[in-house]
Parts: sequence; C-alpha cells; structure tokens
Amino acid sequence: MPERPLLIDGTFELGSAEPFVILNPASGAPIDSVAAASPDQVDTAVAAATRAQTSWWAAAQPERSAIMHAVAAGVRSRKEDLADIATRETGRPYARNLLYVDMIADLFRQYAELARVHGGRIAPSNEAGQLSLVVRAPYGVIAALVPWNYPLLLLAFKVAPALATGNTVVIKPASETTLTTLVLAEVFAATTPPGVVNVVAGSGRTVGDQLVRHPDTDMVAFTGSTEVGAGIGAICGQMAKPTHLELGGKDPAIVFDDVDPGLAAKAVVWASFLNAGQVCTSTERVYVHRSIYEEFVDRVVELTSGLRLGDPFDPDTQIGPMRNERGRAKVLEQLEDAQAGGAKIVAGGSIPEELSGFYLQPTVVVDVDHTMELMREETFGPVLPIMAFDDDDQAFALAADTPFGLGASCYTSTPDRVRRAYEQLKVGTVWVNDPVVDNLAAPFGGMRASGNVRELGLEGMDAFTSMRHVHWNMQLEDKPWWYGPDRH
Ligand code: NAP
Ligand code: MG
Repeated sequence: MPERPLLIDGTFELGSAEPFVILNPASGAPIDSVAAASPDQVDTAVAAATRAQTSWWAAAQPERSAIMHAVAAGVRSRKEDLADIATRETGRPYARNLLYVDMIADLFRQYAELARVHGGRIAPSNEAGQLSLVVRAPYGVIAALVPWNYPLLLLAFKVAPALATGNTVVIKPASETTLTTLVLAEVFAATTPPGVVNVVAGSGRTVGDQLVRHPDTDMVAFTGSTEVGAGIGAICGQMAKPTHLELGGKDPAIVFDDVDPGLAAKAVVWASFLNAGQVCTSTERVYVHRSIYEEFVDRVVELTSGLRLGDPFDPDTQIGPMRNERGRAKVLEQLEDAQAGGAKIVAGGSIPEELSGFYLQPTVVVDVDHTMELMREETFGPVLPIMAFDDDDQAFALAADTPFGLGASCYTSTPDRVRRAYEQLKVGTVWVNDPVVDNLAAPFGGMRASGNVRELGLEGMDAFTSMRHVHWNMQLEDKPWWYGPDRH
C-alpha cells in the first residue's frame, strides 16, 4: 500500500505512530492505511504553527489574501482528485462531491476578500490626546477538529476564516476521511508558508485530545458529535481556552396546510435523505398538519421508494452508503425500538441484500411519538419519521421539544408562521420552503446541545478574531491620580 505522509511545518513526513486502516463505505474493503502522528510530531506541528503565526499575522492583509486566492485556485485545479478521494472515503455520490469542491474554493475566495475590509474600530477616548484602538487580532494557533460527513467543506468553514484573519492551524481530520484531507494538504503545502497549515492524523482520543490540551493551541474549533464536543468543552473550560463547538442536531420540519403537500414531500425527502441522512442539519422528524397528512405520507413513500441507491461513482446513484457499520447499527436499533413502541415502517427499513458496504434503505416511519428514541436522539441516517399535528401551537411545541438547537424548517406561505418560527424555536437556522441549503454569506451554527458558535458569513470571520484594546495616550504626561508626595 502507498504510504501517506502528514503535513508538518511545510514538510511531508510519515506518521511515526501506529497505522490505521480506512475502509471504503461502499464496499467495506480497505482503501489504504495511514500512520498516525506521534505525540512528538503533534508537538512539532503546534510549534511550527506557533512560529509561523507571528509572520503570518505580521504580513500585510493583501499578501494573506493573495495566498488565500492561491489556495482557492489550487483547490479548483485538484477538483477531480479531491472529489474522487472524497467519494471513496465518504460514499457520497461523486457529482455532489464535485459541487462541494467548488464551494470550498468559493469560501477561500470569499474570506480572502472579506478579510481585506474586516477591521476594528476607534472607540471614544477618556480624554483629548488619546486614541482607543479596538483591534481585531487572531487568536493564534487554532486546533481544527473535523468530522467525516463533510471532510473538506467543514474544514474550510474553519480554516478559510481562520487563515484570512491571521491565525495558523493544526488540522486533525476524522480518521475515516484522512486521505481526503491529505490530498487537500498538498494544496496547502503548495500555496501557504511552512507551518501556517499543518495536518496531523490519528485518533481523536490520542491526537485530537493532545491538541485540545496542548498549552500552545490558543483555540479549539470542533465540529462533531455532542458527546465528544461536550467533553472537549469541559477540558477547555478548565483551561479557559476558547472553544467553538458545532455539534449534533435533531432538526424538525413543520409542514403547514397552506402549501402544496406534494411539493413539500419532495423537499422533505431531499432534506432527510441527502448524504444518506448524515448531515448535521438533516430533517430528522417531520410534523404535518392532519388535513394533509395522508396525501403527504403517500407522496413521501412514493418518492422514497423511487430513490436510487448504489455505487457513488455511478452517475445514476442518488444515495450512497452510510459511513460506517456503527452508525448503521445505531439507526437499526432506533428503528427496532420505535417499532416496539408501536411505530410502523412504511418504506425501506432494511439493509439492501444486493449491495455490500454500509448501505441502508431510505426509511419512512409513521405512528411515532416523543417517547421514542427515534424522535429524541440524533439518528444521523436515512430515516424520516412523520407525525400529524392539529394546530400551530401543537406544531411549534413538538418542534421545540428537544435539547438540540441546530436548525428547523417550515413549509408555509404565512409570514406570521415564519416570525413565530424564528422567535420561538431556539435554533441557529430557520429554513422556509428551501431546507438544508448553506448560504456562505450568512451565519451557520447551533445553540444548546448543538453548539455555541456561528461559522460562515461575516460572523464566521469575527469568530476567529479576539479583540484587543490599545489605550493610547499620545504623549507621556503626568496624571492627577498618579502617586506623588501631595497625592493619595
Ligand atoms: P465525532 O466522533 O464527535 O468526531 C469529530 C472529530 O473529533 C473527529 O476528527 C474525531 O476523530 C475527533 N475526536 C473524537 N474524539 C475526540 C476526543 N476525545 N478529543 C478530540 N477529538 C476527538 O463526530 P463524527 O462521528 O466524526 O461526526 C458526526 C457528528 O458530527 C454528528 O453528531 C453530527 O451531527 C456532527 N456534525 C455537526 C455539524 C455542525 O456544524 N453542527 C456538522 C457536521 C457534523 P476520530 O475520527 O479519530 O474519532
Ligand atoms: Mg466518530
């Protein structure tokens, strides 16, 4: 098997700890193995990022922006390579991976330009002859911990604004999508100064944990599960280290009776089954007005039964496999538990016999309620449970009945329902009639058990700067409150 080196201080070197194997989710067979970074190599990467950060931040913004544009061009020039390896590692259809590569390039371009005009302010000063400069400064070295479901895009959500504002990064990809990240590392190596971007591979419990606890990482930017994120938040809390947490979700969709139920069904099927349901903002529970419930369910079942599962490299494939056996087993467990509680599967529900790998049929479930884990815990798989509601109060109460707070979607033509959604649902994003779409210009993120930060937009750039105040008396002059023989 070819050996896959890590990027440390601008140099490619093999990990010197134990190798780990990466499986292709569409076949279950190994793709390749990567040797993990040793603790010494992680230290070397953090030290390199620390050294590089001083000159990276001292450089003029146009210089940093030009390098960001070079990254974008590098990403575009490796578009097919990146989409190819991402398809093999994630199991997501190739055509979609091509789109995501374009989005990553867009993100680096967006932040290259936004950072040119992203400044601080001058606050009113106490006295004449003073300046109060409120300066936007980088945190320093960012530890970026990324999940496997969107290995490149979620990495870019962090790395693009972090670099643009003068931080350096040490990236720890999810073990399952390390190869994809190492291809992107080649772009960084060709475009950024040594040490500005480092990629170290290995398990979260070892390499990830070392980065979190490292005294020289100034901030941890994490996207992943609520369980792991809460643990990282606790460690960082002890160290008073700033922490970005983008965590799991249980996003509801509310389908009101003032829209076309057939069209809403189409939207919901997309929002639930995109990436085999492994999107943090997947629609994971659907509430439909009783008057259109039957028509809606029939259409959802019809559309779901027609979805084409298969090889992610086949251009006809709409849905690929789940990423791993563990995830699939958890979904099957939730389905079993729901059925024991009286739920009925009306489409899918099984492992397709004809496909190896970690496939699961897109599944529609009815007769569900909130006693079931399926309606309370994150599923992160291709399951769409549907419940009827009788009035708006009940719909909003059901949608709000969750510890999570990532997103929610509404299907309605009534402005008042939109207002109620954003006022009453404690979520980071409300989608109205167009679910699970990212707008790179607007903030994205969650509240409560779904996290504590916003990425993307101007807000996503603010998130990677810490404010410094320079209280500047233009001349050294005596102040009446300083100690002197006649002063107290
Ligand atoms: P995960 O298991 O929490 O892992 C995320 C990353 O953290 C991986 O790189 C992982 O490395 C690393 N990690 C694991 N344990 C660690 C530890 N103790 N210390 C430091 N790092 C550690 O999440 P996942 O299974 O990869 O991704 C799925 C989850 O991510 C879902 O819950 C999903 O909702 C969430 N997600 C949230 C968003 C959002 O923006 N809110 C977006 C996408 C996904 P290993 O791979 O080596 O374990
Ligand atoms: Mg994991």
